[in-house]
Amino acid sequence: MCEKRRQILVATTNPGKIAELRALLGGDVQWLALADVRQMDEIAEDGTTFAANARKKALGYARAAGLWTIADDSGLVVDALGGAPGVKSARFSGEKLADDQRTLIDHRNIAKVLELLEGVPENERTARFVCCLCLASPENVLIETEGTLEGLITNEEIGKNGFGYDPILFVPGLDKTVAQLTSKQKNAISHRGNAIRRFRPLLDELLRNG
Ligand code: IMP
Repeated sequence: MCEKRRQILVATTNPGKIAELRALLGGDVQWLALADVRQMDEIAEDGTTFAANARKKALGYARAAGLWTIADDSGLVVDALGGAPGVKSARFSGEKLADDQRTLIDHRNIAKVLELLEGVPENERTARFVCCLCLASPENVLIETEGTLEGLITNEEIGKNGFGYDPILFVPGLDKTVAQLTSKQKNAISHRGNAIRRFRPLLDELLRNG
């Protein structure tokens, strides 16, 4: 008899992230979006670390929906700014706006980072994207992984691809900013790609063992 596929809820409203996670994780899983389940209260991302936020969202939505749930939290960490924008990456220049206002807020966030780094020399402009992923059942955390992408903050926006802080993170090995990469090139080296690649074998093992 054919076994029922495990349903896993992806706890994000960002369609880009859902597509990326589904494509990279694949597996014998029925991936559900928040829109596929009954409406639930939004869970505040008020933790002090990416890992704490991912865990809080995964457990919160898993309990509310009664489903295994994967959540992520990600952002930019700039060493010369003591780790800022960090967990405040999405709302660094003010309140987090609705999904259709992302481009506007992205530009404002970038402008604030560049302004704060004015006069900081290149060798002190080290930074990284960080992504933490968490899978939880309604009872407990099942898997947690982290991925990073190291770079240097530019003096101006360069490149048109991607989203968020992509135009100001320069990747020395590739001699390009993340916004100059195709999505395939970005996935191959990105913080989210790296977190997902660590996650995949752990998920496969979990599904195999029941
Ligand atoms: P989240 O949606 O709460 O994880 O917020 C993440 C924020 O961090 C986004 O709004 C972006 O500002 C930034 N961020 C996360 N991942 C990336 C990326 O791949 N490129 C550029 N910015 C990113």
